[in-house]
This record gives sequence, C-alpha cells and structure tokens, in this order.
Amino acid sequence: MSAMPDAGTLDARPFAEPAGAGVSAGRHTVGPNAIIQTRAALDQIAGAGARQAILAAAGLASLSERDPDGMVEADIVNALNGEIAARLDAATAAAVMERAGALTGDYILANRIPGAAKRLLALLPAPLARRMLIRAIAGNAWTFAGQAQIDTGADFIAINANPLCLGRSGFSSCIWHVAVFRRLFTALVDPAMTIHETECVGHGGEACRFGIVKA
Ligand SMILES: [Zn+2]
Repeated sequence: MSAMPDAGTLDARPFAEPAGAGVSAGRHTVGPNAIIQTRAALDQIAGAGARQAILAAAGLASLSERDPDGMVEADIVNALNGEIAARLDAATAAAVMERAGALTGDYILANRIPGAAKRLLALLPAPLARRMLIRAIAGNAWTFAGQAQIDTGADFIAINANPLCLGRSGFSSCIWHVAVFRRLFTALVDPAMTIHETECVGHGGEACRFGIVKA
C-alpha cells in the first residue's frame, strides 16, 4: 500500500473524506492531472514538438513522456503553465488551458465520482445538486488548491490566495479552473450551468472566485 493517495486533480468524490492534506514541507501540492491533462492538451492543440519544447523549457523534460509519481508541487504546474504562456500565442495558450481543464473534468467524471453519486445528483433538484457538488469539490480542494482556504456559497467556490494562479504574471491560467468546473457542473447538475471567474488573485483580488450560475 502506498502512502501517497491516488489523486486526480480536483478529485471530486462527493461523499468521500479527503484522503490527505495538499501540503508537503510547507508547500502546496496538487494532483498530477494538472500535468498529465495539460500535456495531453498540448499534444492535441500545439503538437508533440511544442509539448516537448515547452516541458523542457519548464525544466520538466523528465515528465514529457512519463506521468508524475504522485502529487506534484504547485510550483511545477506554474512553471509549465508559464512556459505555455511564454511560448504560444495568447489564443493558443488559452485554448490549451481550457482543453486541459475539460480533460481533467472528463477524468474526474470517468474515474472519481461513483455511479451512485452521479445517479443521486441527477435525481436532485438542480439547486440542491449544485450545492452538493460545490461542497464535494470544496472537500477535495487539496487536490487542486493545496492547503489554500476554500470558501463556498450556494453559487460560488473561492480559492483564497490560489496557488495555481498566474494572473500576476499576465496569464489567465484560471481558464483551467473554469473549464474543470464547467465540465463537472454541466455534466452533473444542469447543461445550462455557466462558470465565470468574478474575482482573481492575479488581478488584485484576495481569492480566485468562481461563480456557478444557470445561464
Ligand atoms: Zn484567478
């Protein structure tokens, strides 16, 4: 048995307790999908050559073909996302982050949410299902926000001092969070749900706050 939890990023098992704390030696750690799915999105949108060059530039050549062994430090994810911003044009970089988020959402839906929970969410009225999914995501925030404090309400999730936000360096990496949440809420609550980042650490906010509302 490994002591390392087998964690997908944003491991939203609605009824499971968090399996570990998202912190190692005082630093934020997050689930490996923040590398694995971003790498896949690079392949799909920018091509294998660009993926190899970007991972090498980020100092992550060893992860170009091989998956991380377990949780990864947020700094590593930020290095990868920073090179995506630096080496791709803005529209392509945004498309990669959005695809990476959608792929992460697909992974969570396929592997991390039990069928019984999916069936329950489908039966509940949408506002109740939304609240339940928000709570489940907050309970698993250690997989995508490390030890950051999470605040939630009926229609938002906020990540205080979001460790995966590159906004201060000029790149809206939170496109990734929006895409993950959109995938989950449109699949599990209502296809008409929309996600908007209404406050961002990268733009002077204290938290990255994601509004979750029906369009
Ligand atoms: Zn943000």
